[in-house]
This record gives sequence, structure tokens and C-alpha cells, in this order.
Amino acid sequence: MVVETEVVEVTEKKGFPAGIWTKCKKCDQILLQKDFEENFMVCPKCGYYTRLGSEKRIEFIVDKGSFKELYANLKPIDFLNFPGYGNKIKDMEIKDAIVTGEAKISGYDILIAVMDFSFMGGSMGSVVGEKIVRTIERAIKKKCHVVIVSASGGARMQEGIVSLMQMGKTSAALAKLADRGLAYISVLTDPTTGGVAASYAMLGDVNIAEPKALIGFAGPRVIEQTIRQQLPEGFQLSEFLEKHGMVDLVVERKDMKEVIAKFLKFFSNK
Ligand SMILES: [Zn+2]
Repeated sequence: MVVETEVVEVTEKKGFPAGIWTKCKKCDQILLQKDFEENFMVCPKCGYYTRLGSEKRIEFIVDKGSFKELYANLKPIDFLNFPGYGNKIKDMEIKDAIVTGEAKISGYDILIAVMDFSFMGGSMGSVVGEKIVRTIERAIKKKCHVVIVSASGGARMQEGIVSLMQMGKTSAALAKLADRGLAYISVLTDPTTGGVAASYAMLGDVNIAEPKALIGFAGPRVIEQTIRQQLPEGFQLSEFLEKHGMVDLVVERKDMKEVIAKFLKFFSNK
């Protein structure tokens, strides 16, 4: 599994043993890898949130040793013969832009799906949609709540309209989950955009965002051209969306597990 850390490893050439030291991508601060990971991969100097791969993300929010991966055998197919797509998905180490499974958070059994931005920009294609739906259906069967962590550039153009259909498919599955009185906690991370923002990422019973995450459907330039108005400062960042009611709360990465656990407790006592 590929973990995208966005932190440049300092190589031995520069006098540091690789893997022990890392450098913040934003402020260039040299950091001990161990300290950096203990700080949830947030730079202690400038507060920059390093993007996480699914493996690290799962490690940070579920109970240690509780994660059991499901549906790992689902792989994308180049059904449209889209130029270059077949080779791209063949060479990837991880199978698609999402990892799904069962886990516990503070003792609560949950079904979880975590997106991986390092796989084709976390784009939502047929495999992402199918894995999410199977995860939700299993949650209904096992009477568990669902947590989905999103990180996506939107729908996967290499799968054409089939990728757009995943918006309806995942939304319908979430409606079924809600009918059974089970909760869906959506965690939005940087970036959550396009078709993912326009479907399951925004459909949580509670939508929680990491600080300063870019969240939105279209990019600011497209919106400015369409509405012919200048957009306000910080538009499409978590804090702005929280202030305007699009996101319920912004939670620091170090507190994320505890906050999710509180909501699980709340929804379980209903
Ligand atoms: Zn920094």
C-alpha cells in the first residue's frame, strides 16, 4: 500500500539517514520522523497538514489492531479503452482510490471507507462506488454506523459517465442506511471536490472537516466566471464552510478519533 506523505525524505547524501528525518513541505522545517508522526503528521512549526494515505489515516482514527480490510479484490477495468488508463491502473501498487473494512473506534464496531488521494487524485470511479456501497450494505446487515473519510479531486474521467453514476449509487445506499436508523459520519480532508463533494462526502449525519481543507464542487475561477462576482477570502476552506453551515464542525487531526467516538456514542444511545 502506498502512503503519500508529501514530506520529502532527507537522503543520506545530505548527511541524514533516510527515514529518520523529514522536512515540512510548506516551511522546510527539518523534523524527526518519529516526532512528526506522533504529532499526526502536522508540522509543529507552521501547522501544515500533510496529506495522509489510507494506511496512516486508518492508524490515526481506529483502535489499534482492529482494522480488517474488506473488498480488497475489487480492481478497476479499462472498459472504455480510454487512452493511457489501462497502463495506469496496471502499474499501480494499490488497487484503487479507496480502502474499506471493519474496525472499532473507542470500542464501537464500525464500517469504514478511507479514500487515497495518491491513487489518481482520489478519483471516484466504479470501484470506489462499489466498495462504498458494499461497505454500507454490510453496515446495515451488521447494524453498525459508517465512517467515510474523503479525499478526492472528483469523478474519474477515464470511466466516463459510469463514474458520475457512482454519485447516485452511493447516495441511494446512504438513504437506505438512514432508513434503518444507522448513522453516517463523513470526514472531509484536503481536498474534497467535484462529484465526491457533490454526493456522499456532504451527506453525513454529521460532516466533520480537517482545518484548512479545500472543499467544494467547482474551482473558484469557474465559479467567478459563471456568477461574475469576486469570491470572498478563504472561500471553499473548511472554516468558511463551517461558518456558512455547509460543514458541521472543523476538528484538528489529533482530536478526530475522540470526536468521532463522541458522535458514535450519541448515535448509539438514540
Ligand atoms: Zn511547516
